[in-house]
Amino acid sequence: MQIEITSMDKYLNPTSVKEFIKLIEESERIVLTCHVHPDGDAIGSTLGLWHLLKAIGKQPSVVVPDVPPRSLRFLPDFNEIAVYTRHDPYCTRLVDECDLILCCDFNKPSRQDHLAPLIQEAKAPKILIDHHEEPDMDCVVQFSYPEMSSTCELVFRIIAACGLYSDLNRSAATCLLTGLITDTQNFTVNCKNPDVYEILTKLMEKGAEKDKIITECVKACSYNSLKLKSYAICDKLEIFPEHRCCLITLGRDELDKYQYEKGDTEGLVNEPLNIRGMVYSIFMREDPDCIKVSARSKHNFPVSKICGDLFNGGGHLQASGGEFKGSLEECRKIFIEHLSDYDKYLPKRIEKLEIKTE
Ligand code: 5GP
Ligand code: MN
Repeated sequence: MQIEITSMDKYLNPTSVKEFIKLIEESERIVLTCHVHPDGDAIGSTLGLWHLLKAIGKQPSVVVPDVPPRSLRFLPDFNEIAVYTRHDPYCTRLVDECDLILCCDFNKPSRQDHLAPLIQEAKAPKILIDHHEEPDMDCVVQFSYPEMSSTCELVFRIIAACGLYSDLNRSAATCLLTGLITDTQNFTVNCKNPDVYEILTKLMEKGAEKDKIITECVKACSYNSLKLKSYAICDKLEIFPEHRCCLITLGRDELDKYQYEKGDTEGLVNEPLNIRGMVYSIFMREDPDCIKVSARSKHNFPVSKICGDLFNGGGHLQASGGEFKGSLEECRKIFIEHLSDYDKYLPKRIEKLEIKTE
């Protein structure tokens, strides 16, 4: 295929690219880090860059706030990832001794939870590589592109712009394609830009293991996870027809009954959004330290606003989340009390909601 690689970097600021190249050239030990509860894009972008930096002779390390989900274990060299909650002294040493820190897929220190102080107080300069709105980070170079599908898309563009495309190997390509696939929900959202498919093609040419990503990361689940999600949809789905929204809540006893493990409810929040006429979907899960809220929408309905206003969170317009300190019932009540505040964002013309209630 004869695509000019440089056609991919039309969005990037050339000065930032030059500064990026200079900092990489000057650095040996490079830490790659991401947000808490890392997802496919967070791990895909950090581990993808890890493979690239290794290929060009650097000493990179991936340092993440907490354990990544089971679904990402298939990624090449996943075991190289240093987890702060498990190996605090090791992670601390890596950060203290590094020459450069690349902050991937998050826009503010608080998204790193308990890892934030270590990264914020580090001596090494930081570079931001992210696609969330309103970045608030103290970095020497900033690549912030909320219009991009994923941080992995942005990483690909940076690699291409730096002239490092030839160093991108199969492992790096598999990691980057993982973020592209997971953040676009398998190319269903945030992927209107045709460049995304050009990048997909380029990664496939590099040998990215697409089928493995789909099997391991999009489809595979445990028996208990399938049962938990089925139970949630059958018994716990509340619909608020006049507000075009729906809510699923899962409490500790329910999660325990299905021996909940991290990642088991992945994708659940998307399911009710398939109902014709539904505009947004909220999922609340009782985690040990907080109520974790996930929100998804269609028609540009700003669920990020709801998460920001009510649940101390944020994210993307149509895919966001937050954390609520209090009981699950309080969290549910607050949401229901404020439902009508957000009716003004519903689309003016919309298909009929396809539900029959008794
Ligand atoms: P998920 O629902 O998959 O956990 O998160 C979807 C998106 O919402 C994430 O990619 C992230 O951008 C955002 N998000 C999730 N949880 C939080 C949170 O606690 N705070 C903020 N600011 N954003 C979040
Ligand atoms: Mn992302």
